[in-house]
Formats: sequence, structure tokens, C-alpha cells
Amino acid sequence: MPARILSGTEIGQQIQAELRQEIETLKQAGVTPGLAAVLVGDNPASHIYVRNKIRACEALGLYSERLTPPASITTGELIAEIEALNRRPEIDAILVQLPLPKQVDAQRVLLAVDPAKDVDGFHPINVGALVANRPALRPCTPAGVMELLRRSGIPLEGQRAVIIGRSDIVGKPLALLLMHAHATVTVCHSRTRDLPGVARTADILVAAMGRAAFVTPEFVRPGATVIDVGINRLEDPAAAERLFARHPERLEEFRRKGSALVGDVHPDVADVAGALTPAPGGVGPLTIAMLMANTVQAARARRGQAVAARARVEAVR
Ligand code: NDP
Repeated sequence: MPARILSGTEIGQQIQAELRQEIETLKQAGVTPGLAAVLVGDNPASHIYVRNKIRACEALGLYSERLTPPASITTGELIAEIEALNRRPEIDAILVQLPLPKQVDAQRVLLAVDPAKDVDGFHPINVGALVANRPALRPCTPAGVMELLRRSGIPLEGQRAVIIGRSDIVGKPLALLLMHAHATVTVCHSRTRDLPGVARTADILVAAMGRAAFVTPEFVRPGATVIDVGINRLEDPAAAERLFARHPERLEEFRRKGSALVGDVHPDVADVAGALTPAPGGVGPLTIAMLMANTVQAARARRGQAVAARARVEAVR
């Protein structure tokens, strides 16, 4: 039986619909959550990511703005821009799009973001809160994976989860979130011995490695849930012919566009897995939805008192 498809697009829309109502309530109380995206230089992929994030803000009625310092900016100048955003009361969320140019010390820049406005959850204060399982802003992609699993009714407690990838942005924080949800978690990386064998022990297998179609059916225990975080651009026609041999519509699309976005999971895994996220249309939309959710959460945490006070005044009237 082919795998159940876990549509991130649908779940992302559900989350955004819930947020739209919450934002409306906040606006009635005089609070419009605001996000500032800092986009340094002219990396084309970063421009697309930031554009999509700003569009999502606009669609939900959030305030948003985009800062575009030149690629030649110094660490000190960028930190000064971030500090100016920290001081602005109407900005609840600050996003620094990565990667930053080589001459910029990314660690120092991320450290300069006010933890209360750190919508990506990368500041060490927020990382510490995640380790200790205390409330704080969580990194968007791992938070999106958890929402997708929860809303799809995939049990986590006592389940064996294997994550391939140990980055600070995806693998590591996701391991902590799954552990806090009482899964038994194994984290794999480029030095892991017998990767397919370890992956096959998983009830929930997460691929977050950035290697197109690397996870083939031999990595997957029949019936397992497979979450594909990877986003890779495929441009080699011969590789596309092989990969999409049994997926004529995707091959057709590749031929039309000359490239295709593919995940870390091979399309044939759909024959073995019990449930599978598509790529694209899986984890990506959830990342955006959680960015919006984090912006609202940050606004509530920073300006909740104002909202509560306004509600009390309304109640008395
Ligand atoms: P990184 O490059 O930071 O990390 C990749 C990880 O995968 C590393 O831990 C690396 O191991 C491991 N890895 C790489 N190759 C192998 C291999 N052959 N065998 C075993 N492990 C391997 O990537 P990110 O975590 O930032 O991103 C991962 C993927 O997810 C990318 O495709 C990225 O585009 C995508 N992504 C998608 C998002 C979304 O919204 N859907 C958001 C963020 C990322 P080691 O540590 O040993 O080097």
C-alpha cells in the first residue's frame, strides 16, 4: 500500500487560519505583531526565502519590513542595525537570514538579537531554554516538524525516532523536541556507521542532511513515518531521469523547467513508508507557518500586558 501523504501545505494553512483569528484579536486590542527580516547581500535563494516570509506576513495582516544591508557590511555595522531593531517597540520579531557574508561573524550577530525577539530561536538563551524544556521561542523548522507529526496523529511517546543530520538549525533542536515528547531519539551524521541499518530501526525517520534523494527504501522499515526536511535543487538531466523513472509527471516538470526541487528522500520510499511528507509541500510550508506563530507568540509575550489591560477596559465599558 502506498504511504499516506502528510501534506505540509494543508497543515500549514490550518495553522495560518488559526493565527489569522488570533492576530485579529490582538489588533482589536491595539497590537499588530511586527517582524523585521534582515537580508544581507544578494544570495538568490535567501531573497526567495525572505520574499516568501514577508508575503506570509502580509497575507496574515502582520506588520513586516525588510532591511537589505549591502554584502560589504561589517560585523559591527550589522550589530548596530540589530540593536536599533531591538530598541523599536513595534518590532516583536527579528529574523537574520542565513548565510551571512564571510567577513561577518554570524555567531556575534545572532547573539546581538534580543532573545525576546529571536523568532528563529537561535540565541543561546533560547537554545538553553529548549534544552531545559522551558517555554521560549523554538527554531521554526523543528517546531514545524513537531506540529506536522502532532496534527497528523503520529504517536511519539515511546517511539523510536532516528534523525539524519545534526545541525544547530534542524537536527539538534528536533532531537530535543522529540526527546521532550518522550520519543527515544538517535541522531546520525556523516560519521555514523551503517546508516541504513540505524535508519531502519526508526518508527519515525527524519532526513535533514541536504543530499538529494539519499534516503532510499533500504533505509526505511516498512510502515515507518518518514519526514523529509531536505530541499535540494536538481539540475542533472540524467539524475532526474533515474530519480523520476516511475514519476512521469515530475520528470515532465523537470524537462519543462530544467531543474527540480527534491528532498533528501528518494521518491520510491513511498512504496515502503507508512506515512511520508512530500518535498516540496512538506516541511517547507510548516517552517513559514511556525515563523508566523513565533512572531505572534513574541508579540503576546512582549505586549501581553497591554492586550490584557485593553481587554479589562473593554469589559468594564
Ligand atoms: P547542514 O549542512 O547544516 O547539516 C547537514 C547534516 O547532515 C550534518 O549534520 C551532516 O553531518 C549530515 N550529513 C550530510 N551528509 C551526510 C551523509 N552522507 N551521511 C550522514 N549524514 C550526513 O544542513 P541543515 O540542517 O541546515 O539543512 C539540511 C537540509 O534541510 C538541507 O537540504 C536544507 O536545505 C534543508 N532545510 C529545509 C528547511 C525547510 O524549511 N524545509 C529549513 C532548513 C533546512 P556532519 O555533521 O557530520 O557534517
